[in-house]
Amino acid sequence: MDPAGLRFCPRCGAGGYGYHDGKFWRCDSCGFRHYHNVAASASVIVEIGGRVLTVVRGKDPGKGLLSLPGGFIDPDERAEDAAVRECREEAGVDVTDLSFVGSWPNDYEYGSVLYKTCDLYFSARAAYVPRLEAHRPEAHGSGEVAGIELIDPEDIESAPIAFESARRALLAWRLRARGH
Ligand SMILES: [Zn+2]
Repeated sequence: MDPAGLRFCPRCGAGGYGYHDGKFWRCDSCGFRHYHNVAASASVIVEIGGRVLTVVRGKDPGKGLLSLPGGFIDPDERAEDAAVRECREEAGVDVTDLSFVGSWPNDYEYGSVLYKTCDLYFSARAAYVPRLEAHRPEAHGSGEVAGIELIDPEDIESAPIAFESARRALLAWRLRARGH
């Protein structure tokens, strides 16, 4: 299925711009190909006072649900740097000592386009934590973040988490923390 509903070649304008193999569009007229590559994101699992830092999503997908501080990796950016940057932007928390937890695939629908993502998760240590109740994340300005919530690691299964990739990462992280 075409993830964006494209009908015309953006290079030559001909019809017959089809989606193939779940990966790319190809124009039957001029041969132009455009790959709909997997988008990589980086997120952070950080404990503050024994609870996990999450952000309340201010926009769809998953508006009103929880996600881990994180976001898409910019071109030419390291995943580790993206994780640190996003955590600062979304939650105002500076993290250090990143450790890779794992990666899980996810579907992310935005602007009527279905993106396939590869979500990378890191655990980290909080180097600086603002007074969270008073914090106004930079992302508040764009409406991306509606608030901050700390969840108990025992509630990972039942918490209103937007993306299953985050829930799976949290479960893997908790298992590792328990020494299994
Ligand atoms: Zn074409």
